[in-house]
Amino acid sequence: KGDLMRGKRGVVMGVANDRSIAWAIAAAVAAQGGEIAFTYQGEALGKRVRPLAESIGATLVLPCDVSDDAAIDETFSLIEKEWGKIDFVVHAIGWADKQFLRGRYLDTPRDAFLTALDISCYSFTAVARRAAAMMNPGGSLLTLSYLGAERVMPHYNVMGVAKAALEASVRYMAADLGADGIRVNAISAGPIKTLAASGIGDFRYILKWNQYNAPLERNVSLSEVGGAGLYMLSALSGGVTGEVHHVDSGYHIVGMKNPKAPDI
Ligand code: NAD
Repeated sequence: KGDLMRGKRGVVMGVANDRSIAWAIAAAVAAQGGEIAFTYQGEALGKRVRPLAESIGATLVLPCDVSDDAAIDETFSLIEKEWGKIDFVVHAIGWADKQFLRGRYLDTPRDAFLTALDISCYSFTAVARRAAAMMNPGGSLLTLSYLGAERVMPHYNVMGVAKAALEASVRYMAADLGADGIRVNAISAGPIKTLAASGIGDFRYILKWNQYNAPLERNVSLSEVGGAGLYMLSALSGGVTGEVHHVDSGYHIVGMKNPKAPDI
């Protein structure tokens, strides 16, 4: 418990359950006194998100399907009506048809590509535009990425292409919003067993590979990503924008398999 986020209000988008990265960041922010509005996709998830929100005293819990501009408009105008200004947004949302998260990237059809890029990349731009218009100076926008944006990961395919576009959009928006004192960053998280991750082919193999070959010789925890999220949203990272910050036990620096790693 502390006061790093005392007096700050923001929106956390992408909680599906208590294993969600969005929830880990929300919990870290709430423990430092931050006030959070949650958005969820569809009523089935709403039923899960509401009790989690209540557990940290949050009362603003709103539906928002980010593939729908009108839904984003409505959500942010409701939040503006309640709060006026906000200080942060967490966008922890990604989606691609899991049929194409296996096999070859080359075989991705146009409609699957466009949907993956729409939900996993463009939605952050769409949200950031509305959020920035109601943000206090010192505001912070944060999204979640993965190393598959930079390197080829088996099965990650069109999500890797979407994350590359997302990371580029972080840099462009950081440049656009810097003059307003608003920062835009991404956390590139190591693999964590969540609902979204379960759609990726052979995810267990990816977890094992990272565990054996990362410098820290383990996978990251949800609370470590939560802590990095808190840093990115708070004044502690006041000089940081346009950054893709790896929270992956150091895996991104590795060039070869760890010779000590067992076969998997
Ligand atoms: P998760 O399944 O808990 O969260 C994904 C969220 O995206 C869900 O809440 C889902 O409802 C939401 N979503 C999907 N389509 C949506 C839409 N149209 N409108 C609104 N919301 C929508 O899984 P997670 O792993 O916590 O994922 C959060 C973010 O972290 C994603 O961007 C993911 O790519 C990224 N990430 C995850 C890992 C990992 O290994 N789990 C690693 C690096 C990055």
